[in-house]
Amino acid sequence: MKKRLLSIVIPMYNEEENIEKLYTQVTTVATKLQHFSDYEIIAINDGSTDDTLSNLKKLSHDSHMKIISFTRNFGHEAATAAGLHHARGDAITIFDADLQDPPELLLQFEKEFHNGYDIIYAQRTKRLNETVFKKLTSKIFYPIFRWLTKLDMPKDIGDCCLLSHRALEAFKKLPERSMFVRGMIYWSGLPKKAVPFVRQKRAAGKTKYNYSRLLAFALDNIISFSTIPIYFIIFISLFTILACVVGVIVALIMKLNGWVIMTGWTSLLISQLFLFSTTLFFLGIIGLYIGKIFEEVKQRPRYVIDTLVNFGLKKDI
Ligand code: UDP
Ligand code: MG
Repeated sequence: MKKRLLSIVIPMYNEEENIEKLYTQVTTVATKLQHFSDYEIIAINDGSTDDTLSNLKKLSHDSHMKIISFTRNFGHEAATAAGLHHARGDAITIFDADLQDPPELLLQFEKEFHNGYDIIYAQRTKRLNETVFKKLTSKIFYPIFRWLTKLDMPKDIGDCCLLSHRALEAFKKLPERSMFVRGMIYWSGLPKKAVPFVRQKRAAGKTKYNYSRLLAFALDNIISFSTIPIYFIIFISLFTILACVVGVIVALIMKLNGWVIMTGWTSLLISQLFLFSTTLFFLGIIGLYIGKIFEEVKQRPRYVIDTLVNFGLKKDI
């Protein structure tokens, strides 16, 4: 068997209760792999305020266990990206820390990787114990996202996937600060394959995505990947201009024939209010794009690392 390394990237924010179970399960599966002779687990502590970091450090006697610890919370996407940037594997896989994506998926992932696919993704056939709101938002978001971005991103997925080395290289070429890891992975258009699974309920702890964070996440990702909302503004404004022209013509015809012209303030107020609110809405959309440009031109680093463990580097402890 060729010597091959698998990198297992796991972002973590306040996951103290899940670490031991996760480590045991991932290690058990990793030692069963057929096409990889070695593995590394890259746990990213995304500025947790609980005992995530100290629990991770307790496992660092195992040299497979590598830790990247941020100075503060930079967000799930930044944590995943940091793991991908530090991975040395011939293939790289991403898992959440809460065991919602069962580590056994790795065995199917490696089979499809061996069959030559570059992106092998876990596709949810069922989601246990997730709120109706979460299921609904994901049902609505993904078709809209695909339509607006023209990106061939599969439905019913999360970040759990396995990437070939060239899929990782394609990901790394994207320089944006504002990251949507999932979108950036499928952007490459490399051959992909689904592995269906039932998404489990969280092993312990709470989801880090509340309603407002989910909505902001959805909006942010659409703005990062598509300019179609701007075309939509132009399209709507053409429509309102046309409606105005028709209105003027109708009013003129009525006036010339001596018919009664629409009277009263109510219709005037309603049309003014409609135009005012749509203008504000469109200004908001343009503002979101300007905000994104502002974020990108600043060129700030996406995260700051406080500690590296088992990487054999200077900042290693
Ligand atoms: N996560 C993170 N940083 C954050 C929020 C979440 O690293 O700011 C991690 C979290 O610990 C988990 C993964 O991202 O491993 C997915 O988060 P979560 O389970 O809360 O999301 P959900 O599965 O509910 O969508
Ligand atoms: Mg989860």
